Amino acid sequence: MRTQNNIHVGEFETVLREHIILDWRAAQLPRQMHTYNTHFGTPLGSESGWWDEEKRNKKPVLPHYLRQDIPHKALRSLSCLRLSGHKFQVQIQRYNQGVPYEQIFCDRCTLNTVQDEAHVILDCPDAQLVSLRNQFQHLFEAIPAGSTTRLRDFINQTDAVGVADFADKCLALFDH
Ligand SMILES: [Zn+2]
Repeated sequence: MRTQNNIHVGEFETVLREHIILDWRAAQLPRQMHTYNTHFGTPLGSESGWWDEEKRNKKPVLPHYLRQDIPHKALRSLSCLRLSGHKFQVQIQRYNQGVPYEQIFCDRCTLNTVQDEAHVILDCPDAQLVSLRNQFQHLFEAIPAGSTTRLRDFINQTDAVGVADFADKCLALFDH
């Protein structure tokens, strides 16, 4: 959030949260909402369940990355990643009723695993993705294997510029 825009960030955070909650309730996209909340949405509230009525009076906080000076293209990619604006199989097949979510397998490896954000970013053994992770090795060193919050920890780590750069290059691999 650039300060020269004269936006009152405190009010903006509150308004943004209310809009997101309204959109989620109207759209009824439980899995998308769950994915967002579990991995990407937490920084807007400091604890889980921030949309609950009794917690609405607590001040929400903008995601860390929105406060960093990230190049526009990379910032856009990071936002796309967070908001399911990508071309991973889970998104491409989202409206394909013939394929249950659990069978939306990754087409870049033979693990027969759902190609969701966590698989692409953290686990897929595809050579291009492994090479990309090696380029950004420092982003992955602090993420303990087996942690249930790996993706959230990855996305919200201090080096937001690095994460956004990774997101940009990662999404580009699926841009075909
Ligand atoms: Zn894979």
